[in-house]
Amino acid sequence: MSGKRKNFDSENDDLKKMKTNGHWSNGLLSAMEDPELIVQSNSKLVVIQDKFPKAEFHYLIIPREDIHSLKAVDKSHLELLKYMHNIGERLTQEPRHQSRTFKMGYHAEASMTRLHLHVISDDMNSPCLKTKKHWNSFTTHFLLDSKEVCENLEKYGKIKLLSSEYCKKMMDTPLKCHKCDYIPKTMPDLKKHIMKHLK
Ligand code: AMP
Ligand code: ZN
Repeated sequence: MSGKRKNFDSENDDLKKMKTNGHWSNGLLSAMEDPELIVQSNSKLVVIQDKFPKAEFHYLIIPREDIHSLKAVDKSHLELLKYMHNIGERLTQEPRHQSRTFKMGYHAEASMTRLHLHVISDDMNSPCLKTKKHWNSFTTHFLLDSKEVCENLEKYGKIKLLSSEYCKKMMDTPLKCHKCDYIPKTMPDLKKHIMKHLK
């Protein structure tokens, strides 16, 4: 497990608090400057630990360029997105991630401002992963694969975004284990079940 986790139960509190200030969706902008969260940074991007990780390892790669979301991405960002992907790949190859499998992708409809690439281990084992929405946002096509996003951008000059109906459908997908055919009745069932896939 990553070392710096805390505030496991405060995502909603955090959001509520920030909502009152009208700034909740800007949380990543302050996180990019938080030494507690920063994993690496350079002139192009900052890599942070997700403050409410949905797996044992969960990072966000955030460009310094003020790109609001995937909707604002065009062909001029291709090299940057490829670079973010490469940084993510290198991160997953670090010794502490040995024998782990990672997913890298963008949420089709992100909640937080500033484009961010999720780099997440596929255990999905975290106290912060509490809801069906959390589960489905990382285990369905709602998570747009980073490599495919780069390929589409290169090929078609734009990103294939999902319609809001399709996003809703992904969010409403019945719970299912991402590693086997198990169909849980509830989130607690699923959380208990995934323990058996942990090495
Ligand atoms: P998305 O749905 O793609 O916008 O995901 C936003 C991600 O940011 C989620 O995985 C949250 O756990 C994470 N997050 C929310 N607030 C913060 C924060 N203040 N610092 C770091 N990560 C955050
Ligand atoms: Zn299973």
